[in-house]
Amino acid sequence: MLLELTNLHVHYKSYWYVFKVLNGVWLRVRRGERVGVIGESGSGKTTLLKSILKILPLNGMIIRGEIKYDGKDILNLGESKLAEIRRREVGMIFQDPMAALNPVFKVKDQLYDILKYKMISEGRNPSKQELYDEALKMLTDVKLPDPERVLNSYPFQLSGGMRQRVMIAMALTSAEKLLLADEPTTNLDVTIQDQILKLIHNLVIQKNLSAILVSHALGMVYQMTDRAYVLYAGDIMEEASTKELFEKPKHPYTQILISSAPRLSSKGISEGIKGKLPDYRNPPAGCRFAPRCPYSMSKCNTIKPEPIELNKEHITCCHLYG
Ligand code: SF4
Repeated sequence: MLLELTNLHVHYKSYWYVFKVLNGVWLRVRRGERVGVIGESGSGKTTLLKSILKILPLNGMIIRGEIKYDGKDILNLGESKLAEIRRREVGMIFQDPMAALNPVFKVKDQLYDILKYKMISEGRNPSKQELYDEALKMLTDVKLPDPERVLNSYPFQLSGGMRQRVMIAMALTSAEKLLLADEPTTNLDVTIQDQILKLIHNLVIQKNLSAILVSHALGMVYQMTDRAYVLYAGDIMEEASTKELFEKPKHPYTQILISSAPRLSSKGISEGIKGKLPDYRNPPAGCRFAPRCPYSMSKCNTIKPEPIELNKEHITCCHLYG
């Protein structure tokens, strides 16, 4: 197992309130496996990814749980060891490339920084020319047209799609073992979303990386992952092979989520999921989906459903199967 999260609880603190977001999340990624995490916006997907790298905002706190990465206990690892993992082993593609790129440095300076660290830690002392050649190759690998111009540009001089490709190049340079992709196409024009996804997919396969793809775009997860988790309001609702999850969903939330996804072949626009996510300041004590669930029973309001193994590869958390 490359990555294993157990019983992860994450809270955010504001001046007056505590937002109890992740509520005992678990997740596993085997070596070479691509794992999807689906769920509505606001379910805690980004929090989950940021917890793995311990890059939560300052008001975010990991209250309890365990994160085991490649045999290491991430929550008790020193900052220098963590920085090394972030720089050399685990890369992350963020939703918004502008948030990850520094607006006051040219693309080449940002790429040189990553490359220098990587090469020095491999015992090499790169010349300027070597850095330039390597940076050019990184941009060529992500199919950026006119990579020389891009190298000499500031992020604001590039289109959204170009910035996203630069960020993918940077993330892949750091990702020798695991790639975390957080809604990698959300901010892009629909016409290039597909190209970017295919690019990520091909590069992950080429480099034989493990990956976690977080998205509310179900088609993307269906195409690109081997196994998937459904996250709702900070709780894992279901886990199965991606094929089984999409073809035989068992949890009421998964069933509604999948049936409300827009399809080209459908006869009209689906109704979507009625109701809204619970207030994280005071979430339901039992099943967090209970206020919206058509099958809710009295115990759903008070008892949190435990994971139930339907078969070796399919787990659901619902009292209907208890
Ligand atoms: Fe619905 Fe109860 Fe199952 Fe939650 S535990 S999904 S409320 S039936």
